[in-house]
Amino acid sequence: MNNRLYGNLIFELSRKGRQGYTLPRNTYGSHTDELPASLRRQAALKLPECDELTVVRHYTNLSHDNFGVNDGFYPLGSCTMKYNPVIDEEIAALEAFAALHPLQPADTCQHALGLYYALQQSLAELTGMKEFTLNPCAGAHGELTGLMVIRAYHQSRGDEARTKVLIPDSAHGTNPASAAVCGLEVVEVKSGPDGLVDVADLERLISEQGPSIAAMMMTNPNTLGIFEHDIPLITQMVHRCGALMYYDGANLNPLLGVCRPGDMGFDVMHVNLHKTFSTPHGGGGPGSGPVGVREGLEPFLPTPRVVERAGTYSVETGDYEQSLGSVGCFFGNFGVMVRAYAYILSLGRENVRMVGPLATLNANYVKESLRDVYELPIGGLCKHEFVFDGLKDKSTGVTTMDVAKRLLDYGYHAPTIYFPLLFHESLMIEPTENESLDTLDAFIQVMRRIADEAKTDPERVKAAPLTTPIGRVDDVLAARQPVVTFKQMSHE
Ligand SMILES: *Cc1c(COP(=O)(O)O)cnc(C)c1O
Repeated sequence: MNNRLYGNLIFELSRKGRQGYTLPRNTYGSHTDELPASLRRQAALKLPECDELTVVRHYTNLSHDNFGVNDGFYPLGSCTMKYNPVIDEEIAALEAFAALHPLQPADTCQHALGLYYALQQSLAELTGMKEFTLNPCAGAHGELTGLMVIRAYHQSRGDEARTKVLIPDSAHGTNPASAAVCGLEVVEVKSGPDGLVDVADLERLISEQGPSIAAMMMTNPNTLGIFEHDIPLITQMVHRCGALMYYDGANLNPLLGVCRPGDMGFDVMHVNLHKTFSTPHGGGGPGSGPVGVREGLEPFLPTPRVVERAGTYSVETGDYEQSLGSVGCFFGNFGVMVRAYAYILSLGRENVRMVGPLATLNANYVKESLRDVYELPIGGLCKHEFVFDGLKDKSTGVTTMDVAKRLLDYGYHAPTIYFPLLFHESLMIEPTENESLDTLDAFIQVMRRIADEAKTDPERVKAAPLTTPIGRVDDVLAARQPVVTFKQMSHE
């Protein structure tokens, strides 16, 4: 234990009259009467009153309760929690990038517009798409934008009947959510016993509903980490019925430098810069979900656009009659783009090819080292991640939730659990390409130890975590009766 004054909130550490800072004396006189009384605060704002050292300790202690990639192994499947290189942070912090205003004239920020343009080009080359917009602020936002592009494309041909989207049952929850937000109807495609899209089921759906299908959304490798090897056939079937293929790029990492969604027949896709291109996320930073399209769909992309003419970059919003218009404020999360571009350049053309194969090697190494004690429902080679269906020995009563909580006691971030929904005890592990053999071996050892504990001391595993500031929370209660605001106590 430590002797810290444990305050969940700085307000709980407040003591009436305590000060950390004194404002300079007002030498300008009172100007309060310049604001109408109706707009003026009637009572003093209830701010916490603390001395400086208490404030510093409070936030330092809170930061120690946090867990990020820089603290330890973070195998959160589907989230690609790769290392965020320090150089990317240094470049993003340069005043030339960090101090820009989104409304400043283009001739004063050519360097930033040039970076923006170059990132668009790099993504197009890495994915095999014709053109990218960087405006969407997350993967899900990219999905919505991409589906809006697809809808605009069908409408531009006068084809108003295409209102359905085919989505595999293994898909991430954002796929059906984005389709619904876009006003499209979701049609689920089944997976076969091998975890891949069931082509026979797809064929049936297309023959029954073909003319009403706008698109099919796919993740490849899918959320089980398995490469959809029927993809040429699938894209052919979907295209033949007049629909477009959407690629959910959240799992782009293992393809980097190996193959490209554009070459597989996808028409529209998003990239999660915060996953594949290594910018901080998961409570650690904002996202970015650029959307790329194949040739012929560029007119529908949103504005503003950054374009290049004879070496000069400009921002354009007009003259795009078929464009969706704006999907957010200004240009998206520019700081994320600077980091992502720095990441791409620091890897370079040679090393970017190593990302996918190393991520795949690491995932297969962990999988093969644990499959005798954890249930592997779908064997064979995986790509960057894989899914266990809980412990192999089900007689102990120890669940995936218990394993995940016990990992916290050993200093690891938990894997993704209970997703995908195809299995009851899903435990989804994505090591990423950055981890050393030593880190992977240590994790494997701990996972095996937990499997042992499940047999010898199951109650201990079920009681975990035992070392964190907060133990098990009642997640049903938290979902049903969330308390999301602090009740202001009087700090007299
Ligand atoms: C993360 C993820 C998304 C959503 O991306 P966000 O950037 O979190 O909005 C979509 N699909 C898959 C497969 C993902 O892993």
